Amino acid sequence: EGAPVLEALEPADVEALLPRPSAESNKYRRGVVGIAAGSPRYPGAAVLATGSALRSGVGAVRFIGEPEVCDGVLARYPEVLIGDGRVQAWVVGPGIGPDRADRVATALAADVPVLVDADGLAAIKPLDRPHPTLLTPHAGEASRLLGEPWTVQEIEAHRLAAVRELADRFGCAVLLKGSTTLIADPGRATVRVNRTGVPALATAGSGDVLSGLAGGLLAAGLHPLDAASAAAYLHGRAALDVLRAHPGRQLIAGDLVDALTAAPPAEP
Ligand code: AMP
Ligand code: MG
Repeated sequence: EGAPVLEALEPADVEALLPRPSAESNKYRRGVVGIAAGSPRYPGAAVLATGSALRSGVGAVRFIGEPEVCDGVLARYPEVLIGDGRVQAWVVGPGIGPDRADRVATALAADVPVLVDADGLAAIKPLDRPHPTLLTPHAGEASRLLGEPWTVQEIEAHRLAAVRELADRFGCAVLLKGSTTLIADPGRATVRVNRTGVPALATAGSGDVLSGLAGGLLAAGLHPLDAASAAAYLHGRAALDVLRAHPGRQLIAGDLVDALTAAPPAEP
């Protein structure tokens, strides 16, 4: 096995991948993404993931969660659909709490692409799904997925090897978050790297915004590798845009949702 090779998505690549409505579009054809997120303890994760999913270019977002979480999401985003129904991809995990393996199992049993993030990762075992799957751990979540000897320090010191190991072991696409964002697919030597990330992204809820966005792109039909790398690109791009528009502002995750844009991306 040769040394892993890194590749970056260029702005023009991202632009070409993004869903755009056409004269033939309707909301169902544009894709519906389902979000299973939040809990009474972490209701905000649901709001952030839903907001970015709505801004991803899908036709609709469907939300599943506890009644009080649904109320909070609806209060902020009246565009959202509540309850079960057909979706083209699921996002499961942000803020659901550690004991919702049932939510993860339900999503994984569906015949559509699934993104598993955050608390949902606690329920993940090596997968044998016939549909695309994407895991989006940070180093701590990656350490729990991989077990010994992969401590957080070991992962940070060998991020490329760690993301390859995760993808190969779990049999699905993996986006490893952190100071650099790396995206791997099982059996693929080349690992994608995102070049738009900035340290200001290290703030509560930032990962939930990334998940909703990547999930929306999955629902729009992008391959997990492309959905993950385009989402990472736009997420970083949004942070850069906020910082440029408001010099000195301390970024919060909600700023990212508001700044998400599918406008032709410029060089960072
Ligand atoms: P989470 O840990 O799930 O909230 O996700 C945090 C988000 O911020 C991910 O998209 C990370 O890649 C990003 N991030 C965290 N720390 C940094 C950093 N030091 N530099 C750039 N991006 C970061
Ligand atoms: Mg997170």
